[in-house]
Amino acid sequence: MSPIELTATQLLDELRSGLINSVEATRAFLQQIGQHDESIGAFLRVDSEGALDRAELIDRRRKQGEPLGRLAGLPVAVKDLLSTRGEPTSCASRILENFRPPYDATVVANLKAADAVLIGRTNMDEFAMGGSTENSAFQTTRNPWDTSRIPGGSSGGSAACVAASMAPLAVGSDTGGSIRQPAGLCGITGMKPTYGRVSRWGLVAFASSLDQIGPLARTAEDAALLLEVLAGHDPRDSTSIDRPVPEYSKTIGKPLENLRIGLVREHFGEGLDAEVEAAVREAVRVYESLGATVRELSMPHGKYAVAAYYIIAPSEASSNLARYDGVHYGRRTDEAAMMAELEAERKALAALGDTAALDELDDPLVRMYRRSRSEGFGAEVKRRIMLGTYALSAGYYDAYYKKALKVRRLIRQDFDRAFEQVDLIAGPVAPTPAYKIGEKIDDPLSMYLFDLYTVSTNLAGIGGISIPCGQSGGGLPIGLHLQAPPFEEERLLRGAWMFQQATDWHRRRPSL
Ligand code: GLN
Repeated sequence: MSPIELTATQLLDELRSGLINSVEATRAFLQQIGQHDESIGAFLRVDSEGALDRAELIDRRRKQGEPLGRLAGLPVAVKDLLSTRGEPTSCASRILENFRPPYDATVVANLKAADAVLIGRTNMDEFAMGGSTENSAFQTTRNPWDTSRIPGGSSGGSAACVAASMAPLAVGSDTGGSIRQPAGLCGITGMKPTYGRVSRWGLVAFASSLDQIGPLARTAEDAALLLEVLAGHDPRDSTSIDRPVPEYSKTIGKPLENLRIGLVREHFGEGLDAEVEAAVREAVRVYESLGATVRELSMPHGKYAVAAYYIIAPSEASSNLARYDGVHYGRRTDEAAMMAELEAERKALAALGDTAALDELDDPLVRMYRRSRSEGFGAEVKRRIMLGTYALSAGYYDAYYKKALKVRRLIRQDFDRAFEQVDLIAGPVAPTPAYKIGEKIDDPLSMYLFDLYTVSTNLAGIGGISIPCGQSGGGLPIGLHLQAPPFEEERLLRGAWMFQQATDWHRRRPSL
């Protein structure tokens, strides 16, 4: 079998046993990228040379019998918001075009220490703001199952590259669904760990109280493997939790016994596509056939989740993105042109004798900030900065931001109550299969509403996973969303894997 057809776990076995070496495996993925990424657009940059060099080094070390890391020789793709020393890290934004961080994000350092082969940087919505990857400043990523459709987002490049067999594993980030939703729409497995499980150090921040890094893979078993490498305490991220990382890949084969699954009544209402509902209900029947019991629950505050999220996330974003001023990092406006423009304005106003307007003319520094930010940020990012600035401003803070925080607490309480009765909550990950490129881009509200099943997880700080559970009549993947109490990643992975042992949705691949 070609290495691109294997799961990460299988490929690692072949690498270990010497059936294949890392250079051969890496070449096979690079070839797949070369053949298909022009039509998919999953990668912003492919580091063929660096990847092959690294693969060669690992092969050499293996030959010499050196001890190797857990992902030794395995190609891995990373979302373009993970700082990587000396590598362009753009967040798919013009404002960070050509920014090369002087250090590695902790997860990148972990991947390197595990001897993974970093093959490229994946496309995303600018600063992870979006759900379709159409908000990238550089390119649109297409869904490998139907290239007229979105791959989901914001980790759309990471999801598409795994779905299209261009990488066995990819890393993404999830602030309100950005790993789980694209995984669902691309027919792969994607997990958002509990807040604090994975270090955010070196992750370019969108909304710091919601952001979490996680794995995208073909199977839950592969996701477990990658999570083991990503997770762990990091003194450089004060929100990362000091708890041992379980060996997820060791326990994954143990099915969950006496599993109690909860279905949230409110998830099966208005807006849910009939085929998605049917696939999710069928998936729940599979669990029942495996011995699970199912109970219906109510999570009454879920209906406010999108509203609360779209106050909290933009508020944090407006603060986090204040640092992009054209001075510290990335793009600065053309200062010569700006000074010439300012001078021309000054002359024109002087000729008119308009001294009041002259007095109000920008300070050049302020104008430089404004121009750099106007040119550097895309429309959605600007919208979020304005929404957040508004929600945090004096007079509105209590009405919006503080109220959203109260809702956030109520949502967490809904989960706490639910998890007194059930072990996992199951439901749809997105209301419909992948929609057409361009379909929602001019309608931010309908884009935001598409996040209704995923944002609560982040607001509550818990973990969730999306696994393939069906296909639409048109052949598009449908994802099942599982959520668990905090730090129950093991339960999520075992629960996902027991489903994958009983079904073969995760084995299907798009024909490219
Ligand atoms: N779609 C959501 C948003 O636009 C979630 C994004 C994310 O998780 N990064 O904010």
